[in-house]
Amino acid sequence: MTAILMDGRALAATVRAQVAEEVKVFGSSVCLATILAGDDPASHIYVDRKHGAASEAGIQTRDHRLPEDTPQSDVLDLVAELNADDDVDGILVQLPLPAHMDEPGVTRSVDPAKDVDGFHPLNAGRLFLGEPLHVPATPLGIMALLAEYDVELEGRHAVVIGRSEIVGKPVAMLLLAKHATVTICHSRTRDLAEHTRAADVLVAAVGRPDLVTPDMVKPGAAVVDVGVNRTESGLVGDVDPAVAEVAGLMSPVPGGVGPMTIAMLLRNTLSAARYRRLGVALPGS
Ligand code: NAP
Repeated sequence: MTAILMDGRALAATVRAQVAEEVKVFGSSVCLATILAGDDPASHIYVDRKHGAASEAGIQTRDHRLPEDTPQSDVLDLVAELNADDDVDGILVQLPLPAHMDEPGVTRSVDPAKDVDGFHPLNAGRLFLGEPLHVPATPLGIMALLAEYDVELEGRHAVVIGRSEIVGKPVAMLLLAKHATVTICHSRTRDLAEHTRAADVLVAAVGRPDLVTPDMVKPGAAVVDVGVNRTESGLVGDVDPAVAEVAGLMSPVPGGVGPMTIAMLLRNTLSAARYRRLGVALPGS
């Protein structure tokens, strides 16, 4: 068997074009503000890409880049300013923050209505309750890929490797909301392969090159590789490419989940604008 590759670039291009159309007819401007503190080169590349994609979709941007030694109070003041600015719809604080900052303290200072990353406890709680408002973009991108390739979830066994707030936990909640039977694995899981071999849908969000090998995958399973690992041989995921010989569907790295994350961030920003500017009722309120 050779897996069909789930083409995140193509689907992301479709989503971005849809967002651009919707922004055009929205009737007022849509604005995303980002805050990047520090010198992490990967973060600068990610934020550049987010701005490029937002501009292409007709979303206005504010780009705040601060030096590594910025006091946390300055970042909190900036977040407060953006929270109060009626022209700003979405606020994104790029992680990781410099080591001297309290990351949850900063991300939790973002107004939940403008929290397009979905990291605020109120947004995480809403997802847990099945009343999502802003959901983190990477899990949304994973779900969009699975839907695009008609992966059946109801009653199927989904195994998520990784339990971070950004990927593992929220994607597990989204899979559960689609009536999958969900297992979450992590660094203390005993006999990981025993769990993964039972998966109809396997999501790997760990950050370890080639953690998932062909013998760990059920023949025909849908395998989503979230990992982004920079190695001497280039950018690789968490899934050994040889898994394609066993899986039915597989997302490549690069070109799978990565492009979807940016596309869903744009969608989240437009949703934030809709909620605030059109007074669209918040889900579940
Ligand atoms: P993270 O916060 O470091 O979480 C990693 C998770 O993997 C943890 O829950 C950890 O378990 C678990 N883990 C570590 N070693 C393991 C092992 N040997 N077996 C099973 N589980 C193990 O990372 P993250 O932010 O979720 O990101 C995960 C990966 O996705 C990274 O490569 C990141 O770069 C990538 N990523 C990609 C995108 C994208 O847009 N493509 C977006 C976000 C993240 P414990 O909880 O027990 O420590």
